[in-house]
Amino acid sequence: MRRILLLGGTTEARAIAEALAPRRDIALTVSLAGRTRNPLALPVPVRSGGFGGAEGLAGHLRAEGVVALVDATHPYAAGIAANAAEAARRAGVPLLALVRPEWTALPGDRWRSAASVEAAVAALGATPRRVFVALGRNEVRAIEAAPQHDYLIRSVDPVEPPPAVPRLRRIEARGPFRDEDERALLEEHGAEVVLAKNSGGSAGYGKIAAARALGIEVVLVARPAQPAVPTVGSVAEALAWIDALPAHEAPPAAPRTARGA
Ligand code: NAP
Repeated sequence: MRRILLLGGTTEARAIAEALAPRRDIALTVSLAGRTRNPLALPVPVRSGGFGGAEGLAGHLRAEGVVALVDATHPYAAGIAANAAEAARRAGVPLLALVRPEWTALPGDRWRSAASVEAAVAALGATPRRVFVALGRNEVRAIEAAPQHDYLIRSVDPVEPPPAVPRLRRIEARGPFRDEDERALLEEHGAEVVLAKNSGGSAGYGKIAAARALGIEVVLVARPAQPAVPTVGSVAEALAWIDALPAHEAPPAAPRTARGA
């Protein structure tokens, strides 16, 4: 049994868990931050909540006899990615990061990049606009710096308390979102600009495709830097890396005693 810890909270982590759940040679545990109230069920054991920084995670790796760590967290989850790199180094455990490739602009896309969420909100400009906000619950409060706009925000769980801006509509929904539904939502709100992260992957791409189809501008928050660790871009590559891990040594057999000898 190879004991593997998978830092999750993403579609890719779910896919890895589903692929490895039937395996008898691997004992996989998925770790979630515990932010989502009702996370979708996973077919492997799940632990939830922070470890207490890099040292806490390193202690967990040692205590649980983890032989490999896979960081399949979101590309914007910079804190846990840095902790994973440091913890793996301290515990001497091989680490693989799975980072989805970024979306790249296609003809018709009207993108602007901003260095941070705050800079992205500032990039909306002084003139009031109708804005669709696809940011995380922890980031969305940044819109309070630009109360002149009319916002539609979407999140998995309600943003409580709501950001203090005079024109705000909130909807709760969990992706993936289809292109046509995203287009209908943008049209219904009369959106003139989309505020989002360059998350990559297909689940969140609908709003990007819809904005392109409608000729709407997209302000994208740039990704945080990733730690310099072995990194792949797909679930298939992550599964191949796991398969190539050295087989865990079986515990030494108990010395034979010649009973009654
Ligand atoms: P973060 O800022 O990088 O992490 C903050 C702290 O949360 C970490 O230091 C760690 O606490 C804890 N944590 C984060 N992910 C964890 C995990 N998988 N298991 C256990 N503890 C975890 O992360 P975040 O941006 O708040 O994202 C939290 C989770 O939501 C991630 O797992 C990520 O994959 C998922 N997610 C994030 C986004 C996003 O845009 N950021 C989008 C979708 C999903 P300790 O230091 O105490 O260990």
